[in-house]
Amino acid sequence: MSSLPKHSALLNMPIDLIREITTHLSPADNIILATTCRAVRNCAGQGQFPPADTEENREERFEYLAGMSRDMPDHWVCEECMRYHRIDTADTPADSRPNCPLADLYGRYNQPLQLAPADEYELGRRHVQLALKYTRMGDSLTPSHRQYLGRLTAARQFSLSYPWEKKVTVAAKVAPRIVDGRFLLRTICEYRHPSRQITRDLIASESICRHQQFFPLEDGAWTNSSLHQDLRQFPRAVDNSFESPGKEVHGHCPHCYTDFSVTTTARSVRISVWMDLGTESSPLDPVWRSFVHNVEFPPIEEVEYIEPGRVRELYSSGEKEEE
Ligand SMILES: [Zn+2]
Ligand SMILES: [Zn+2]
Repeated sequence: MSSLPKHSALLNMPIDLIREITTHLSPADNIILATTCRAVRNCAGQGQFPPADTEENREERFEYLAGMSRDMPDHWVCEECMRYHRIDTADTPADSRPNCPLADLYGRYNQPLQLAPADEYELGRRHVQLALKYTRMGDSLTPSHRQYLGRLTAARQFSLSYPWEKKVTVAAKVAPRIVDGRFLLRTICEYRHPSRQITRDLIASESICRHQQFFPLEDGAWTNSSLHQDLRQFPRAVDNSFESPGKEVHGHCPHCYTDFSVTTTARSVRISVWMDLGTESSPLDPVWRSFVHNVEFPPIEEVEYIEPGRVRELYSSGEKEEE
């Protein structure tokens, strides 16, 4: 063994073993593997896509494009067009300008993640894709890509006021963080009323994800079905928080990777949300889709969040220079 060339552990394996490995790979991964070198292609074959244009094959094709672009810092894979677009380094969540001809409000796949304080922070899947790619590429990045990574993952702080309704002010801070190859996002929103004690309707109809929204008045409309109970995690936490002022009440959403907490005082309601938007995978990944509005996908999908607190802990474990 020691006399064999050390440049490729894969090529030192018996051919049968390499063939065995390829039977466990997706068609897309086999095609990508075949592009690595002739020796691999000779023993593992070219790989090929299954025919017909089904949704499943679309995912397969996308996986291939995403895999091939893993080391292409100047391109992102567009789920709408099924091809690469050049990056635009001015395009960030704080100033979202997707350079795809089909990326309008009616696109099926390019929908951004819209947080409660909308418009000020509009995270597209391409931002997630590029930030994870650049983080993985690390030392091999050019200074300009490194700067772009900094802008893609920059925290953003802003405040909004609504003098025409309820005289509410909202102070928000959005802070992305990449930990263990996952794109995490923490949002803290503090709702205040400058002149009077706060009440539940201060945050009426606010939501923390696609599944959890607060309606203070329609309480009686909810049934006891387990689905409705799942969708009541946030409203219930808000109620508990108003009953225990000053105490941080924790909760999670069972239908996406979201932890949250609510803290109510006499002067403010503070809502913290931690989201795990997933890995450097296809935008067709259910983890991403569970966060993004899309008429083609039902709001309750495959994602089941059964480890409450995992996202919050992972986010804190990545705590570095920030704050
Ligand atoms: Zn496109
Ligand atoms: Zn959710």
